[in-house]
Amino acid sequence: MLKVLLLNPSNEKNEMVIKDQYCSFTSKADYFWVPIDLLVLSGDLSNRFDLKVIDSTAQQIDKEETIKQVREYDPDHVVILSSLLTHDYDRELIRQFREFKPDLKTTFLGDVFYFSRDEMIKFDEVDSIIYEYPCPELSEYIAGEDVSCNMIYKKDGKIVKAPFRSNDEIVYSTPRHDLFSLEKYSVPFMMEDICTSVLTNFGCKYTCNYCPASSVNFRQRSLEQIFEELTYLESVGIKNIWIRDFTFGLNKARTNEFLDKLKELGFSWFCLSRAETLDNSMISKMSEAGCYLVMIGVDSISSDTMKKISRIQKRDILTDRIAHSTKSDIQVLVHMILGFPGDKLIDMIRTVHFLATTKANFLSINFFSPRAGSNYFQKDFIHRFNEMNLDSNFANFEGEDRSFSIVLVKYYALLIFYLNPVRVFRILYGMKSKRMFDLIFKTGVKQFFPKRKNKSL
Ligand code: SF4
Repeated sequence: MLKVLLLNPSNEKNEMVIKDQYCSFTSKADYFWVPIDLLVLSGDLSNRFDLKVIDSTAQQIDKEETIKQVREYDPDHVVILSSLLTHDYDRELIRQFREFKPDLKTTFLGDVFYFSRDEMIKFDEVDSIIYEYPCPELSEYIAGEDVSCNMIYKKDGKIVKAPFRSNDEIVYSTPRHDLFSLEKYSVPFMMEDICTSVLTNFGCKYTCNYCPASSVNFRQRSLEQIFEELTYLESVGIKNIWIRDFTFGLNKARTNEFLDKLKELGFSWFCLSRAETLDNSMISKMSEAGCYLVMIGVDSISSDTMKKISRIQKRDILTDRIAHSTKSDIQVLVHMILGFPGDKLIDMIRTVHFLATTKANFLSINFFSPRAGSNYFQKDFIHRFNEMNLDSNFANFEGEDRSFSIVLVKYYALLIFYLNPVRVFRILYGMKSKRMFDLIFKTGVKQFFPKRKNKSL
């Protein structure tokens, strides 16, 4: 039986680089969650091959130990989760693996490999790239069969581009959560010692032009297979899940059926969505089904900025959905992005003031970055990765001289948002476990006193 390795390498400094759903960034507060891109591939691959997982960051192993473990396993094929920030290091690793396994075949996936596949396939270490995961075609490719769609690969010295898959509903076997060391991962809002991830849809229907998800085809997973996965998780005692959809609830009819199943199985869970997608009846039903936290992307409420970034939303809907969630016993985290190109300081401050008036429990502030797949990404970033900074705590605002002012806006936002005794009381009242309290406390401290994670600027 062929041996296949799912590998999530660290980087040369053993930093926590999160490579996640077509996006890469450094972890804000040393939390590091299960790599869902590899997780969703694991079920189909384990049906056909001997499968092993090495996640160097989660297992806290350095380059030498990673190479040693790969050598011991002696895989025929490595599926490697890579990224704009790490592809140089990842390719170097493959070169080292090939010193003891010259015919080792590779499949790469990750942000820059999806969005710039024609460039990335040219590297010698890259034999193939998946367009979109899950990818049933990957098993065909590894077994040496013809690939019908969804991959670009090398064959007989030529590059073969299979077409994109066109169906809307996708199917894949229940992921092998057991092959990942779930106890080693942490997520800021987990409430039990183990919290795993589940996907119900892929991509996003919205068109925000700074977001990689807007460039990924929207597809939905078969409800039957989602239920199989939930039933499996419940049977092995995992009751805390993060639903990793970019935007939860985009299809109301399916979401209702899904919520019924979650309620029946008694999960505690959290998710990310948009206020316009969540109507109040859905929010009430989410609460009954065990949802205890929803992250709502706001990013900016400046009308000028919203036009530029192709994101339209209304303040009254945001206010109402946030209030209804907290009333329904669901804590709310709101996301804001500072430093969109052309965004004025006064506009950022208006968004800050607006968010401070809502009933949201938590505020997460990120700095704008020109991510692969967004309108702001430039092709030459692929070869300038050492200058790239996708650290959400320390963005570079290339070509701008206002970084200091934007950092001040961040601290101003955190202060006016959290210096509110009612909010602090509601946060403490909403803690579901000591584990959750510890992680949130750590995340809060890191928001005020972040460590610079990757080189730059
Ligand atoms: S709604 Fe969120 S996930 Fe969807 S495109 Fe906009 S920012 Fe991305």
